[in-house]
Amino acid sequence: MLTATDNMTTSASTVGYLFNKQDRCDTGGCPAQAWVLVKFLTGELLFCSHHFDTFEAALIKHAYEVVDERHQINAKSEPSA
Ligand SMILES: [Zn+2]
Repeated sequence: MLTATDNMTTSASTVGYLFNKQDRCDTGGCPAQAWVLVKFLTGELLFCSHHFDTFEAALIKHAYEVVDERHQINAKSEPSA
């Protein structure tokens, strides 16, 4: 049973954020739908699949949580790329 430290959530079981069509990649000028939410102590950023792949190594060094919903990409009718 987790007690004092269970606020360090592991990404696999994360719920609480639902992506929708209005969520867009935060990299600037990227029109793609966001599928990954990266949480930092100072805020949150959304990434499309392509840009999360591009920056993943750097992002996960600083993020305390990553909500990766890329498995839903093919479950929706709207193609994201
Ligand atoms: Zn993007």
